[in-house]
Amino acid sequence: MKITSIELGKLRVPMKTPFKTALRTVDHVEDVVIIIDTDTGHRGYGSAPATAVITGETHGSIIEAIRTIIAPRILGEDIRNLNHIVDLIQHSIFKNFSAKAAVEIAVYDLFAQSFNMPLYRILGGGEPVISTDLTISVDYIDKMVADALQAIDQGFDALKVKVGKDLALDIERIKAIHAAIQGKALIRLDANQGWTPKQTVWALRQLEDSGVEIELVEQPVRSDDIDGMRYVTERVTTPVMADESTFGPKEVIDIIRMRAADIINIKLTKTGGLSNAIKIADIAAIYGVDCMIGCMAETSISVAAAAHLAVAKSSSITRIDLDSPALAAMDPIIGGVKFDNSEITLNETPGLGIESIQNLTMLHFD
Ligand code: MG
Repeated sequence: MKITSIELGKLRVPMKTPFKTALRTVDHVEDVVIIIDTDTGHRGYGSAPATAVITGETHGSIIEAIRTIIAPRILGEDIRNLNHIVDLIQHSIFKNFSAKAAVEIAVYDLFAQSFNMPLYRILGGGEPVISTDLTISVDYIDKMVADALQAIDQGFDALKVKVGKDLALDIERIKAIHAAIQGKALIRLDANQGWTPKQTVWALRQLEDSGVEIELVEQPVRSDDIDGMRYVTERVTTPVMADESTFGPKEVIDIIRMRAADIINIKLTKTGGLSNAIKIADIAAIYGVDCMIGCMAETSISVAAAAHLAVAKSSSITRIDLDSPALAAMDPIIGGVKFDNSEITLNETPGLGIESIQNLTMLHFD
């Protein structure tokens, strides 16, 4: 199974409700899609969103990195030489992790197809049904409470509450949600770098002292302030999760060894795809540290790959935050992983199992 061509497209999916964090507001998802064709007729699919505020990548940079640098390196390669292809991708260009992720996802899709197996089985197997939390966007308190109650009605048992806009109001938001949901769901806080280390300690102690149980607090401080995150981790009992502060395996080792965080949020857009995400899950397992698998606001192609990984590495990936498809107004992907509110059911068809993609606009270059 040799790679014969690599094509790019764009896929736009409207969201049910806008996704609001301390960093940005998103009302639709638009991803770069990659299709890898082979001499056996098998097709591999991958995708990546442009999350400039986190990874520094745009649609333009992702397209250019794939088209002019990564794709020419792997053209003609035999899919069964997975490790070699992964090396070519990872060493082709500095950083550009989302671009690398899109290509790796399509390559792993084909690798699994070459064995006629769903991806999660090739990655080690597992229980093919997982349950995701749902993001509650930053908003007026009443709106956040209503969104939280609606999520519980829809069957979600973990809520990822976005905060980090205004400290005093954030505490009121969390208290109101905690009171309204009456223990029917876990509360995860994601401050998206919105607080200082001292503010975080102050806020979490207030919540801890008033009996508001928080399962974890995610990336409360600036991504480059690892000392600040350690300051928080040392002073609160609520587990601290690193998101924007960790991209690849080496950063994860540093954070774990510094005891700067208790949990690691793995996202394929930050790791550069599945190969490094697998390494991070294994590193975390060695140290007895839990991981969350997360996603950006992105389409269900790349989220499906993350779901396959989460199933195969469930001993260290203990928390699932793959709610982007649940926030979308429709799923344009035919075949593959089924996303039904909190429930994510993997395909038993080979690879990612994608049959076709609706509304895909192919890009042409001359
Ligand atoms: Mg986050």
